[in-house]
Amino acid sequence: MRRNPNMQNVISFKKARANKRYVIKQTTFLYTDGSKISGALGAAVHTSTRELKIKLPPYGSIFCAELAGLLEAVQLALRHVDGNFIICSDSLSALQAIQHRYSTNPLVQKIAEERKTALLLNKEPMFMYTPSHVGITGNGRADDLAKSAALDAALPEINYGLSTDWKSIIKSAVINTWPSQWDLDSSHLHRITPSVNQDLHLPLDRRSQVILSRLRLGHTPLTHSYLLNQEDRPLCIFCQQSDLTITHILRDCPALINSRKACQVNCGNCSMLFEDWFKLKSFLRSIKLINNL
Ligand SMILES: [Zn+2]
Repeated sequence: MRRNPNMQNVISFKKARANKRYVIKQTTFLYTDGSKISGALGAAVHTSTRELKIKLPPYGSIFCAELAGLLEAVQLALRHVDGNFIICSDSLSALQAIQHRYSTNPLVQKIAEERKTALLLNKEPMFMYTPSHVGITGNGRADDLAKSAALDAALPEINYGLSTDWKSIIKSAVINTWPSQWDLDSSHLHRITPSVNQDLHLPLDRRSQVILSRLRLGHTPLTHSYLLNQEDRPLCIFCQQSDLTITHILRDCPALINSRKACQVNCGNCSMLFEDWFKLKSFLRSIKLINNL
């Protein structure tokens, strides 16, 4: 394990094996693990005399399960272990997280509280990073238990109330609902951007970004200043046949067919118009509207 100045009370498996101070007879090793399998989440603690399985709500993260395993291990050690104990985890990120003194993660805070309680009882919780898949028996058993906990339908779920996990649920609900809601929209922006997954960001200069955003929204000084001036909606300045709108100028105006062709502007549908900003820009420049947008 790389040295990290913040990793207090965390020792590496190699160091523990080399240093008999940690591997004395009275030391109890508690192996923890978290697992996500078939969409279900579980965690576990394994010692030579006890095993604990924890089932978590399926929307949680594997990181949450790893922290839950650490928390349950500390609590189990405080209740049932006399003497020294070392809590082993194969999650370096979880072990690093519990070192952050000002973490806002409720599980990290709870583990910090339990560590303080342990110190009051003259116990000093030690944590050990035990890499997975290197033949450490306790690790393997904890992994099996965590998977079993995740798939155990009879085990009640424990909700540790992590806001980060709720965020991921809300985010995925929005992503799932948004496309169907967006399909019902009939605005100019929807015609320009039929898919919510479309990346609208282009590395352009500020002025180009402003013009492009206004074109996408269909609201520009050219087409909408009549509202501020309390005038009637103007007709197209090129053909005098239709209302002056962005869609009409970019795609429909018959008087601009040659200009579009000359600049190779793709006018198959609105969204295609924005695929090549530089052609569109040269078209707008050629019809002398670039400064009115
Ligand atoms: Zn026109």
